[in-house]
Amino acid sequence: MKTICPLAMLFLACALTLVGCATRPPSPPESQGPPGARTPMGLIAATADLAAAGATRLHPNYIWATLKDRKQDAALNTAFERALTEGTPRAQQALLRALELKFIHDPQTSGLDILGPELSHHFRTFAWQAEDFPGGPPGPNEQFADVMVDVLDLVRPERRANSTRDAVVLREEATEAVWEYMTRQWVPVPGQENWKLNRHARESFIRMREQARAEGVDLVILSAHRLRKTAEANAARARNPNAVASFSAHSLGLAVDFDMSHRNDIKFSGLSTRPMSELVRMRESPVHKWLLLRGEEFGWYPYQNEPWHWEYNPPGFREIFWADFPGGAPERGIIIEEP
Ligand SMILES: [Zn+2]
Repeated sequence: MKTICPLAMLFLACALTLVGCATRPPSPPESQGPPGARTPMGLIAATADLAAAGATRLHPNYIWATLKDRKQDAALNTAFERALTEGTPRAQQALLRALELKFIHDPQTSGLDILGPELSHHFRTFAWQAEDFPGGPPGPNEQFADVMVDVLDLVRPERRANSTRDAVVLREEATEAVWEYMTRQWVPVPGQENWKLNRHARESFIRMREQARAEGVDLVILSAHRLRKTAEANAARARNPNAVASFSAHSLGLAVDFDMSHRNDIKFSGLSTRPMSELVRMRESPVHKWLLLRGEEFGWYPYQNEPWHWEYNPPGFREIFWADFPGGAPERGIIIEEP
């Protein structure tokens, strides 16, 4: 169990309130018309309401501000005019997609913006110290980093493949026969054949990479499968046990570390848990933002501590994963949540 100091607890309570409020922003008087109203302000209000109802993870405040400013962006303006003229759910959906694309490619935005402007500003401008990544060498603000990932998890929840109640395989389920079964399902990824993924994850990854490419984002793998021996050796000598787990989703063939550098948009020197300010800045990467908004459609979920690490684990996948193992998925007892 993590111990959180009273100040961090207080901040978490405030953050939860803000995120709660953020799902229902106050609507200005112009928005009183029915959804899909055929006036520009009515359409903006209807689109923000769609976001509040969960049609996108973009924050309603972002939608208000961006649609009021839509003339700055030709593609967005076209989608807006079409939604205004046609008034169909399909045209409104296309408008949401255009908003998401603008957000993904905008160098000013961060994945943290899904928390709303106040919280995002707080985390983005905080004076992070180099070692503030939770675990490993102690940093003075690790508890604040914990709060950040806890709040993110409320808006874009994790589904860890190797731990918690969503797990595909738990450490204690990984017998020798299970290790053999898991490894046998690894298949090289076309175009990056040095990396392998579980066959289901690979199939989904290929479709996801195509969709991302069509939207101007390159999903490049820096790491995928990890041999059991390598994972155990890494964990044994790691200074940071959070970052390098001995029983990793990489060992299941269900995790990818993506390159957060993207074309000429944004550059990073590699995958490192320090300095913390770089981890926060990685959330500005179009790759991270694309995965944040679109990854779930393909069954991919974040690991909030590491902006680059994503896991394939759609609901119902545990049964699919175990389908060819003699006896299928093991009976599951009470799951003890790991810290
Ligand atoms: Zn990873």
